[in-house]
Parts: sequence; structure tokens; C-alpha cells
Amino acid sequence: MKVGIIGLPQTGKKTLFQVLTGSEVHEAGGPPKPIPGTADIVDGRFDRLVALYQPKKETRARIDLVLLPKMEQESIAKGDIFRDISDVDALCHVVRAFEDDSIYHASGSVDPLRDVETVNSELLLHDQIFLEKRIERLETSLKKIKDERQVKELDLLKRMQSHLENEQPLRLMDLTEEEEQLIRSYPLITRKELILVFNVAEDNLDDTSLLERVRGICSAGKMEAMTVSAKVESEIALLDSEEERQDFLRDLGIVEPALEVLAKLCLKALGRVSFFTVGKDEVHQWLVRVNSPAPVAAGAIHSDLQKGFIRAEVIKYDELIAHGSEAELKKAGKLYVQGKDYIVVDGDILNIRFNV
Ligand code: GDP
Repeated sequence: MKVGIIGLPQTGKKTLFQVLTGSEVHEAGGPPKPIPGTADIVDGRFDRLVALYQPKKETRARIDLVLLPKMEQESIAKGDIFRDISDVDALCHVVRAFEDDSIYHASGSVDPLRDVETVNSELLLHDQIFLEKRIERLETSLKKIKDERQVKELDLLKRMQSHLENEQPLRLMDLTEEEEQLIRSYPLITRKELILVFNVAEDNLDDTSLLERVRGICSAGKMEAMTVSAKVESEIALLDSEEERQDFLRDLGIVEPALEVLAKLCLKALGRVSFFTVGKDEVHQWLVRVNSPAPVAAGAIHSDLQKGFIRAEVIKYDELIAHGSEAELKKAGKLYVQGKDYIVVDGDILNIRFNV
């Protein structure tokens, strides 16, 4: 479960990656390589639960990130970057939207929409080249022996090919379970979820015009979009206390911190939801696949909890906050007892009863 950060040079990828992973990136000499890291999920609900329970230990959920080498003519031509991209589950494309004359732009001017199109065309082209080669091989092999599975695959790949020729990313194609199986192992980049992260100037943080301009292409291409100021985020990260951070955000008029928006979009792209376990010992945020039944969520905590699952006691985060405490919530009868068929919902607070 990994999100890859891609983008043209000098867009703020490294700055953002450092903020997200809390680590410093030192680029070594030699050919550029992907840089792995891990990011805490930023979630205001977690912070409120910590404030409520004052636990001895706090454990945030985490996701893996990888900072991919910048997309330059050379790395694109060699195809190296695509090998790295094919290894991730979702992509975060950092697009430069800030003006700064002291920082060069590979195309000479700042034009976020153009850059989105440029990178998207490269990604489409990659999948086209991959499919072309695979189709050629299949056709050769089918001339020798007729294989049912390969006939099906060839038909699917040809449909995908014409889809790409219409400049449509493959994530827009609905595939059956069987079709998914046929292409599962292929490095098709445009099937991956894509988040556009526009790196805007500090003064433009509350300007929604850019997001309005991309709304059309986002819904047509099934992409998500958000704005962030990598520079502001790196300044926030340098502040010592949570209080200072809150003040800073308030001064800038930021209601929902960008890193929280980004975390939400990443989890959505990865098809994950969060649930919490709470108590005096620990407040812990966990991630599970969307539509997971309670025993599977229990298994994310410990395999014994899944094996010996009896029931889940569920608290709804919003109801807990509305009642102010667990005791008040229970008085109001809002503790729900659920069995093994219960599907965990984002924000659930679970207490698993089990027996081993
Ligand atoms: P990368 O090449 O995409 O990894 O970009 P970097 O994160 O290394 O940033 C390139 C340059 O742009 C650096 O000098 C950053 O300090 C600067 N930079 C990054 N984000 C911002 C921003 O939001 N505003 C401004 N003015 N400069 C930025």
C-alpha cells in the first residue's frame, strides 16, 4: 500500500515529501533513484480522541510513500521512471502553481494545467507502448497455439488500446473480476488512482479558482485535486508545539489543514478507511480496506482478535464528540453491539470482544 509522488522538476515534490515523512532527503550523486519514506496520517479526529482519553501512548496510522525521480525528458525516454511508478498503488502528481522568478521552470513559465496535460500524456503514452508490445507478443503466440485465456486477453488489451487512443486513462474502464485477473500483473499506470496536488503560493491558499478550473478535467479523468503550499507546510513543520501550529493555521485562515486533505485523498485512492481503538493506555488509528467486516478489522489489530472474534462494540466518532464522553454516550444508549457481518465504517471506534 504505497503512494508515489511524481511531477516535473522544481515543483516542490521534495519539499512536500520531507514534510510528510519528517525526514531530510539528501540526493546522492549518480542516476536518480526512488526514495522511500513513511508518513503519519494527519487526522483531526485522532487528535481529539487523544485529548479526550489522554492515553499513555498514541499511535497514528501510517502509509508508505515513495518520492520518484523527477520526470525529465531523459528519464521518460529511458522508461526508468515508469518501472518505478508501476510499483505503487496510487499516484500523487505535484504540480507547480506558485510563481517565483528565482526558481526555474522546465517549460519556461508557470502553467499548471499545461503541466497536468503534459504528465498525463506521458502516462498514457507509457501504457500505449506497453499494450502495443504485449499485443504483438500475444498475436505471435496465438498463431502457434490457440489458447482460450490468451484469446480473451487479446480482446481485452485491444479494447484498452482503443480506449487509450481516445486519450482516456484506463482507470475510467470498468472491468469485470475476470478481466481484472487477466491484467493484474501488468504495470499499467493510468489504471492507478491519481491525485493532483497543486503547490500554490502562500497568498493563494484560499483561492479556489484553480480548483474550479480543473474540476472539469478531474471529473472527466477521475482524478482528485487539492491545493497545498509546500513552503507553508515546511514552515509549520518547524514549529515546536501543537499550539503554535494551531495559531499559525488560524492566522492563515486555514480551516482544514492541507496535510489532512491529502491524507484523506490518499486513503480514498488506496481504498482504505480508518477506525480507532481508544482507552487510557492507547489511542490508535488503524487502516482497513473499504467494506471490511468487523473480524477483518479485528485482524488488523491482532490475528487472535480475528480468530476468536465474538462481537464488536462500536462507538460512532461524531456521537462520542457530541456527548462529550464515553460515559455520557453509554447513558444515551449509543454503544452498538455488532456481529461478524458488520461492515466497518470510516471513523468507527471499535472494542473487540474475543475469546482464544
Ligand atoms: P522538486 O524538484 O519538485 O523536488 O522541488 P523541491 O521541493 O526541491 O523545490 C524546488 C525549489 O522550489 C526549492 O528551492 C524550494 O525551496 C522551492 N519551493 C518549493 N515549494 C515552494 C513554494 O510553495 N513556494 C516557493 N516560492 N518556493 C517553493
